Amino acid sequence: MELARRTGLSSTAVTKAARPLIDDGYLYELPPERTAPGAGRPVNPLAVAPDREYFVGLKISADQLFGAVCDLRAGIRDTAARPLDVCAPEVVAALVAELVAELLDAEPAYRDRTRHIGVAVNGDVDRDSGRLRHSGLLGWRDVPLGELLSASTGLAVTVENDVRALTVAEHWFGEGIGTGYFALVTIGAGIGSALVVNGHLLRGAHGVAGEVGHICVDPAGPLCRCGARGCVEAIASTDAILAAVRRAATNPHLTFDEAVDMAREGHPAAREAFARAGQAIGVGIAALVNLVGPERVVVSGEGADAYDLFSRHIQDAYAAHAFGAASRCPLLLRPLPWEEWARGGAAVAIQALFPQPAATSTIGAG
Ligand SMILES: [Zn+2]
Repeated sequence: MELARRTGLSSTAVTKAARPLIDDGYLYELPPERTAPGAGRPVNPLAVAPDREYFVGLKISADQLFGAVCDLRAGIRDTAARPLDVCAPEVVAALVAELVAELLDAEPAYRDRTRHIGVAVNGDVDRDSGRLRHSGLLGWRDVPLGELLSASTGLAVTVENDVRALTVAEHWFGEGIGTGYFALVTIGAGIGSALVVNGHLLRGAHGVAGEVGHICVDPAGPLCRCGARGCVEAIASTDAILAAVRRAATNPHLTFDEAVDMAREGHPAAREAFARAGQAIGVGIAALVNLVGPERVVVSGEGADAYDLFSRHIQDAYAAHAFGAASRCPLLLRPLPWEEWARGGAAVAIQALFPQPAATSTIGAG
């Protein structure tokens, strides 16, 4: 059976390990698969019971609060959103309680079977304690977010960095299912990334690892907000692209959408700014791929809307810099509507239900 193959355990051992989850209704046995005569005892494939429990996934962004009720397979069942005007943590906690109540009121089963919220938020997060150490985007520092939201909603709360949450969703339920080595890169206001290594989200000794946005691709390049020079983010974030187009067009009031239009209309300097961004992203991803050797890289984020302007440059630079067999790793583009971020939060909550042993394999529930 598939689980046995992935975990390297015998079918009997898998069934035994799964027994408590079967008894609790999280997994159920399908009719035995037909096996060839003499191939041994037929095995019962296991399936996840999606409606056994529901999870609320939240994404807190600078100006919006997004929520989704998801099932045990991270399937989105209902969504809701609220604008965020005042961005103090206590105000957000009260709004979260309102939003969660609205979501859970949509179906009686949601309220009965939801115990856990997963929160995807920008910044440096200590998942174990639920503390947000720092978020530049929200202007928060050392906020006990898990505690605050648990108090306001009465539910268990897991907090995770938004890009990592998205990576968990993609690894367990999306393009990364079954991979031991996997990377996700988001392009937009910032260049974010997270890595799965040996089946686990890479955290690093200092909580910072796999940051493609701050790989240096041009030591003489523009200053980055991190203080270094020539980082991928300093060349390829929406702000960096906009700054380059504004300079070239000598128009300090240009918006990003106008810069996109200029490039699509063939304005050479605007096209060059996007090309340079694409090259920086491609070189950065190649560095990541050369070091870690993922099976797949997913590229996503709000910047993906302008992907037509730099996709070829990303692919060309990636192909030129990826080393040897590592270059077989495909880059996949995924659009990223906001629901996906909220779903990432739900995926983290689902993951918290099944603590991962320090084994080498992960079981996707998709
Ligand atoms: Zn930087």
